Amino acid sequence: METVNVAAEARETGRGTGDAERAARPRGAGRRALARYLRPQRPAILGGALLGLAGGALGLAQPLAAERLVNDLERDRTATTEVIALGVLVLLGAVLVALGHLVLERAAERLVCTARRGLADRLLRLRVPVAERHEPGDLISRVTADTTLLRQVATQAMAAALTGTVITLVTVVMMGVLDLVLLGVTLAVIAFISLSSGLVIPRIGRATRQTQEAVGGMGAALERAFGAFRTVKASGAEQREIARLHEAAERARLMGTRAASWEAVSDTVSQVSVQVSFLVVLGVGGVRVASGAIDVSTLVAFLLYLFSLAPRINQLVGAAGQFQVGAAAALRIREAEEMAVEDPGAGPEPAADAGCGPRPASVAFDRVRFGYRPGLPAVHRRISFTVPARGLTAFVGPSGAGKTTVFSLIERFYEPDSGRVLLDGRDVRHWPLSALRAAIGYVEQDAPVLVGTLRENLLLGVPHATDGQLREVLRRARLDDLADRLPEGLDTTVGHRGSMLSGGERQRVAIARALLRSPRLLLLDEATSQLDAANEAALRGTVADAARTMTVLVVAHRLSTVTGADRIVVMEAGRIRAVGTHAKLLASDELYGRLAATQLLAN
Ligand code: ADP
Repeated sequence: METVNVAAEARETGRGTGDAERAARPRGAGRRALARYLRPQRPAILGGALLGLAGGALGLAQPLAAERLVNDLERDRTATTEVIALGVLVLLGAVLVALGHLVLERAAERLVCTARRGLADRLLRLRVPVAERHEPGDLISRVTADTTLLRQVATQAMAAALTGTVITLVTVVMMGVLDLVLLGVTLAVIAFISLSSGLVIPRIGRATRQTQEAVGGMGAALERAFGAFRTVKASGAEQREIARLHEAAERARLMGTRAASWEAVSDTVSQVSVQVSFLVVLGVGGVRVASGAIDVSTLVAFLLYLFSLAPRINQLVGAAGQFQVGAAAALRIREAEEMAVEDPGAGPEPAADAGCGPRPASVAFDRVRFGYRPGLPAVHRRISFTVPARGLTAFVGPSGAGKTTVFSLIERFYEPDSGRVLLDGRDVRHWPLSALRAAIGYVEQDAPVLVGTLRENLLLGVPHATDGQLREVLRRARLDDLADRLPEGLDTTVGHRGSMLSGGERQRVAIARALLRSPRLLLLDEATSQLDAANEAALRGTVADAARTMTVLVVAHRLSTVTGADRIVVMEAGRIRAVGTHAKLLASDELYGRLAATQLLAN
């Protein structure tokens, strides 16, 4: 089954958050993205809102009870029942509102968690070319910062919108029952607030989106600096990197302030309007009481309704702003979720087997043409070669010849533009991805080591390997002395990107990790370039041992490590120049002769 979401990939042609992409975004996309995350929580949000509403309804009954109380007191009647009723209304209302909050908070946590899990699932399965086109820091900020913004919407905005609308409508009806003239004054104010909010609120969304992009930019700048922490220090570039962070922080501040300013404008407009309406109602109401058109108690009740209406209107205006914030965040999350991912397919879990491994694999390239990007020159120009099962094959040639790319195509990090890459005679595109990668042990050029202990690093590909199997691969990678030397042995932490290990040790950890998967094909990318002479010789033994039981491909910078290879493939500028043994190539290939002359003499 093939794998890639073509539409999504088509969208992935530029950096994630560019202006072009923003321009191409359809109207209402943010709202739709937000609705998608809110939908599963609808019952809970509705439940929470109804509880809040019930609490609010009890609040609405309070002015009526108060009116009776005032009437009774005016007529010198005892008002015990009214006092008790008022107490019960206040207490029950508060409990219901609190319960509603709790239900909403829980729904919000679920919503945020679902979004985070969804993103985690997608991001770690991104296709390599797609991941390469995005800043990791920005992706991280989508998982952490943007998801947090969804929370507000679910807890506050949704409930506020639901309860606010219902309560406002009911209050307006009650006001109408009390006095139509005063209601007219109030409705004029509500109409004014709605109009002004409609103008201001979309600006909150735009500014929020820009704030979140700036926060993503900060993540990216931090990732850049920590990704090469020592280099930044050694280059004395701290200040310049700090300046980048400041710039992003400044932009986030600017945009955040802009969003807050628009929020303040809309809040103020609604608050002032409500206050003005209060004064007008008081004035008009006073005249109507004086003329005998209404009672004092009616005016008191009307003003109490107006009091209770004011926060509802502010709530509605605030909710509309929060929807914009949530929609901006939801859109960024959705974009990340739509990036093209790999389909692992069904395939066997790699089994730890440090002893006699499974059957070695054969590899072939059949007229492979490949370029990293359309428009860039091709890295491979119709290359073909065959590597039989078992034995050591080395790839040599000038830097940039396309040697590492051979490995990337075998692992199917990228796919050829034309031609086929075959493992065991089967096109790698037809292999279930997990089975393909389970068959391969890959030691990358910079031999990455992850944060964690030495043991965790070794177990990365085979989580259930036994201690005996670990010891065996450590011995084969000449690392047993390291494990003995480290203060806590295998359980010593190795620092960020293995910063507590030497370059050679990092490479051997990567080799041991690859061997633990007992691969059928071992890919070593310049695996011996950072080793000292003694270790290099020892590792040459390891590689030769491995080549007896599996197929080993090595990208070699130093010919000294591969002169004994069964076959050497000489690459130059995306083509295969020659294939043969060291002796044969020395005699027949001029480039190889030159490489040998400079490198073997130099060693
Ligand atoms: P070698 O291993 O022979 O030094 P590579 O296979 O690493 O060469 O690279 C071949 C060419 O492809 C180089 O010009 C390099 O700049 C380019 N290249 C390598 N990786 C990428 C990538 N991920 N994206 C774009 N270009 C790349």
